[in-house]
Amino acid sequence: MKEWKGISRRDFLKGAAAGAVGVAAVGVLGGCSPSESNSDEAKSYNVSETKSADIVVVGSGASGICATVQAAELGAQVILLESNSVLGGNGILTEGMFAIGSSLQKASGVGTYITFREVIATEQEFFNYRVNALFWKDLVENSADNLEWLIKNGVKFSGVVDNYYGLGKIEVFHWFVDGSGKNFIEPMVAKAEELGVTILTKTPAADLILDNGKVVGIYAKKDDDSYLQINCKAVILATGGYANNTEMMEARGYDMTYAINQGNPGHNGDGLRMATDAGGADVSLQRCFLREPYSYGIHFFGTMTQAIHRGGPFLWVNENAERYTNEDCGAFTPGNNSNAVHTQNKSFLIFDQSLLDKLAQNVENLVEDVEEAVAKCPGDNIYKADSVEELAQKAGLDPEALVATVNRYNQLCRQGLDEDFNKAPEKMHELATAPYYIFRQDLSFWTSIGGIHTNRKMEVINEAGVPIPGLYAVGTDGCELYRETYTMNVPASCNGNNCNSGRTAAKNAVASL
Ligand SMILES: Cc1cc2nc3c(=O)[nH]c(=O)nc-3n(C[C@H](O)[C@H](O)[C@H](O)COP(=O)(O)OP(=O)(O)OC[C@H]3O[C@@H](n4cnc5c(N)ncnc54)[C@H](O)[C@@H]3O)c2cc1C
Repeated sequence: MKEWKGISRRDFLKGAAAGAVGVAAVGVLGGCSPSESNSDEAKSYNVSETKSADIVVVGSGASGICATVQAAELGAQVILLESNSVLGGNGILTEGMFAIGSSLQKASGVGTYITFREVIATEQEFFNYRVNALFWKDLVENSADNLEWLIKNGVKFSGVVDNYYGLGKIEVFHWFVDGSGKNFIEPMVAKAEELGVTILTKTPAADLILDNGKVVGIYAKKDDDSYLQINCKAVILATGGYANNTEMMEARGYDMTYAINQGNPGHNGDGLRMATDAGGADVSLQRCFLREPYSYGIHFFGTMTQAIHRGGPFLWVNENAERYTNEDCGAFTPGNNSNAVHTQNKSFLIFDQSLLDKLAQNVENLVEDVEEAVAKCPGDNIYKADSVEELAQKAGLDPEALVATVNRYNQLCRQGLDEDFNKAPEKMHELATAPYYIFRQDLSFWTSIGGIHTNRKMEVINEAGVPIPGLYAVGTDGCELYRETYTMNVPASCNGNNCNSGRTAAKNAVASL
């Protein structure tokens, strides 16, 4: 039995068995595989309550709350559905927002030189022109206005604008007060309440209601397992992607055995499922994740992880004990670390005592933390040994192959020229001082970014580019800005897009009423 984390198939059948039917949902087979679709089944729900609204927004996170406030400001009757008991999704965890030409930039004198050209040079060229630059243009052109709009609605920015710890290429990261997304979400929720929005928590959207291919409503599951039917003219999907849905992740090629999710729960792909059920195109394989390498079972935000899982002077090998990359690949953009790791079935990072001691000069408690990780070995993934052979045996690698790889790497270190992968000489550190350490590099997913295909109005479109009437996707559900990598070159552009796409969808939905 297939079971969604948000709405289980069992729940669905229970509702159907109860027999009370509201408006019949007409499923249109979308671009997803049948296993991700409910559209192959007759749909009926045990509807215990019916409401109506102009617009239903699904998801109260960064993009959904912006869509909600914008639509309500324009006079629409809005119902906001949230599956969790707490509002805000991962939006609460965000630290800042992209903008250029903002009043805060002008006041601080930081980043005032930045133009659309700078932004597009750092992103479009990175993606080999495979992103639609018009989405970037819209984002950039609206970004200053979006920021002023957020400030007007009570969002608290600290006034600091920078390049986010040097990870971005340009100074466009506008920090919230205390770096806390609560200072973004909470004032916006208060604004939505002030504007008369009906906010329903613990009420996950289950399925769209279509009439002749047009969205005319939505079913949502209530606390008592019955269903609320909302008749409406437009639905804005803002469910924050599918990174919490193991089945959907595995279907897209990710081994989730030792993966962890750094975001809040509740991102189960309901938006992508509903959009594709309605005929929308699934472009998730061409989109990306906010993700990073780490080792299962250790504290992700601990100093050790930050010191050793960022590439650089370490040796990385795959399951065949082969070196496979320049380990300093994240120096250009941090997303490259996880991209490189994900090219292999397994990846391990290796270092020796002298490198550990060197790094420990600048990282507090590093030696103690590494020893603790070795002692715990929480996912059969972290070992220490007195020889390279023994290290290989412990980690399940071929000892002979690993010795050969280490010897070759050491030779390249000594000659000061990485003939194999062109790593900078200052990042080449010979592995010659026992003991040796090995950490398997598992993946940490924060959020999926993109998956539902949209046009610039944020309307969900099918494979032919034709909009599904009344259906919009925003935030990380529908993001068209990146291809395979969330680069962070333009820091907080994801949140900038959350706000911009939410507002854009709301304006277009209201205009269509
Ligand atoms: C820890 C973390 C920090 C981040 N920091 C930043 C940052 O500083 N800057 C930046 O640019 N980006 C950041 N991001 C990336 C991105 O901007 C955030 O993930 C952002 O929250 C995405 O907004 P969203 O609206 O798409 O999703 P979310 O904010 O996660 O909102 C989605 C909401 O939909 C709800 N939902 C899901 N399914 C249903 C359903 N069926 N019915 C009703 N509700 C549903 C969820 O519970 C959730 O509340 C961060 C991501 C993470 C995980």
